Amino acid sequence: MSQAANAPAKPRGRQFFANPGPTNIPDSILRAMDRASIDFNDADFNAVYQPAFAGLKRVLRTDQHVFMYAASGHGAWEATLTNLLSPGDAVLILESGYFSEEWGVMAEKLGLKPQTVHADWRRGVDIADVAAALRKDTAHAIKAVCVVHNETATGMTLPLAQIRRAIDDAGHPALFLADTISSLGSLEFRMDDWRIDGVVGGSQKGLMLPTGVSFSGVSDKGLAAHRTSRLARHYFDWSVMEKRPHKSFVGTIPTAFFYGLQEAVRLIEDEGLDNVVARHSRLAEATRRAVRVWSGNAGPQFFCLDPSRYSDSVTAILMPEGHSADALRATARNRFNVSLGGGLGPLNGKVFRIGHLGDLNEPMLLGALTAVEMSLKLNGVPHGAGGVTAAMDYLTETAAG
Ligand code: PLP
Repeated sequence: MSQAANAPAKPRGRQFFANPGPTNIPDSILRAMDRASIDFNDADFNAVYQPAFAGLKRVLRTDQHVFMYAASGHGAWEATLTNLLSPGDAVLILESGYFSEEWGVMAEKLGLKPQTVHADWRRGVDIADVAAALRKDTAHAIKAVCVVHNETATGMTLPLAQIRRAIDDAGHPALFLADTISSLGSLEFRMDDWRIDGVVGGSQKGLMLPTGVSFSGVSDKGLAAHRTSRLARHYFDWSVMEKRPHKSFVGTIPTAFFYGLQEAVRLIEDEGLDNVVARHSRLAEATRRAVRVWSGNAGPQFFCLDPSRYSDSVTAILMPEGHSADALRATARNRFNVSLGGGLGPLNGKVFRIGHLGDLNEPMLLGALTAVEMSLKLNGVPHGAGGVTAAMDYLTETAAG
């Protein structure tokens, strides 16, 4: 029987979402957000807004400042740059992949002067190169160091604590800015301990919420820099927000979202932030066990070549030459109702990504891995057989209780 004849006209059952963001939204969050409109100045709303906001600060592990926007992560990128910097300021971009590049493109368009510490996308920057770039800048022209904590495009995590140390060792006063869009609520992240001055975060990944709200965590040092920064902004202006009763958002507050955020924080804190991180690490390792087996027989390979930087929230997988990642994704999506991430920028068609972050458990992950393995077979992609079994073995060996 041909594959087409065997395909259901419309896949039944729940779609397995193995995208690296947006991610699965837990039913309890969907129910919490199912709300009629409420005046955002109403006391009933404030009773939800304040604890949700305080909860987000705990997830960021900060006692400092947070400003929020009705915008996807790009908004928080722009807000963080425009509130902290002035026209012509140099910013150091640490290359990790598509998202570090895009942040640099944005910086340039906003009138900043990005300097890139270049790196192979399969390895990410060498910290010694970052230290050297900062040491060379004796005039302290570089005003900010911009790092994507978890490069969603390449499945690579950069060591923020080490980068903090490199900035300190160089005695450089630059602001330290970190994009935590695909790490917050999934990987260890400590804004205050790592002395990060500007954090870029979004709702749609580890926080398990719909897309549409993003935020900046800001240190006291960052807020002091904001007072003299001169880039144009209005909707994103923290000084305008500080005068608003909610100390965040310039316009109408997306109220339903805060009912969801309150529930997201409850879920994360019920599980415990450390346990959330441990769960992500375990599911990521199970994914890697599968990929390691598939990579045999000249099969698909890990895109990231540095195992110490493998991401615990997303795995990017490079197809063998002559095989399309998009054809594989189409089979997974159309035949098995499993949504995988695609390759971004120059990796388009060459890489597919398995998102393993957010509201996820073992069977959900195994469902997605099974669809990948079946799609490899259906597309005639060479691979080692038994990846899903290896993932199951790992999850069984490490199952507590
Ligand atoms: N930074 C990273 C690391 C991302 O993964 C994304 C999106 O996936 C962005 C920035 C851009 O965020 P958004 O698509 O929400 O605007």
